[in-house]
Amino acid sequence: SGTLYIVATPIGNLEDFSPRAASILSRVSVIAAEDTRHSGRLLQHLGIRKPMMALHDHNERDKAGLVLDKLAASQDVALISDAGTPLISDPGYVLVREARARGFRVSPVPGACALVAALSAAGLPTDRFLFEGFLSAKQGARKAALERLAGESATLVFYESPHRIVDTVREIERVMGAERELVLARELTKTFETFYAGAASRVGDELEADPHGSRGEFVVMVHGVSDAESAMGKVEIDRVLGILLKELP
Ligand code: SAM
Repeated sequence: SGTLYIVATPIGNLEDFSPRAASILSRVSVIAAEDTRHSGRLLQHLGIRKPMMALHDHNERDKAGLVLDKLAASQDVALISDAGTPLISDPGYVLVREARARGFRVSPVPGACALVAALSAAGLPTDRFLFEGFLSAKQGARKAALERLAGESATLVFYESPHRIVDTVREIERVMGAERELVLARELTKTFETFYAGAASRVGDELEADPHGSRGEFVVMVHGVSDAESAMGKVEIDRVLGILLKELP
């Protein structure tokens, strides 16, 4: 039977596409892509012409069946997403799970992944980290998630869209305290790659002052609390202090 290749694509800089990834894409029978028009441009840049099929969050259950049929007919298939590694806040889970359940070979072709790239250069502890994907777009749910994570000792990692980045940083500041250390990685591997680092309140101010601050794509990383701090309830103290300070005239 065929192999399902899970192929990472660049998160900005096209030179991050590996020669092996290119050779796999030119060898498979069909490429399943999140957005065929978007990925079509990458393939054109690479000089690869292949039949493509769309596989995204809204049709993954239906389209997974078609991919499994191809694997059963001994055809190799590659799965790619718009940017970075498939399945990392991107479609593909249903397909990979199903392909494995049916005994097909599933093989990764690693490459760019925004969360790993961000962590590797942020200067925050990387021995333990907790990737939380995107926070909810709803304010109440976002706040609840941050409250649940406020006492976590591992480094926290989030993806965030440009139009919510300032709100998210301010919410982290409110829930986890103005002094909590944050690092934002913006536009990784692209021309305007920028890191913002420091206390939550300062990062928020810097972002708001920067005319390009809320443009582009972001990875948000938050320093975890030390075990001693969480035992002392320092997170809670900081949070209450923050609220009190805001209320002072
Ligand atoms: N699968 C991708 C990966 O491996 O990183 C992530 C896909 S997710 C739909 C898109 C999010 O990833 C963006 O909203 C942003 O948070 C993050 N991201 C992607 N490219 C980025 C970049 N060049 N710089 C910073 N963040 C990026």
